[in-house]
Amino acid sequence: MPEPLDFGGQTPPIDPPAGCVNPLVWRLARRLYADHQPGPDGWCLNCRPAILYPCVARRLADLGLATALNSTSAGPHVTNKGHHW
Ligand SMILES: [Zn+2]
Repeated sequence: MPEPLDFGGQTPPIDPPAGCVNPLVWRLARRLYADHQPGPDGWCLNCRPAILYPCVARRLADLGLATALNSTSAGPHVTNKGHHW
């Protein structure tokens, strides 16, 4: 599956951004993110049939990306730093 392209700047970069504290987690989560994108009907292209979006894998990807950016004591539930992916 090709990488999603988002020219609006909302797609997380493939390579870990500066300040990423866990590049391995970033790369794994970024791959998962790319594989679980919504199709034209809004449902995940990889998880059909699905009953909701984001699917479980996409939610894990979002959590992994946030965690990779900040693995300090705050935890992943407060670590997306204002990103909206
Ligand atoms: Zn999915």
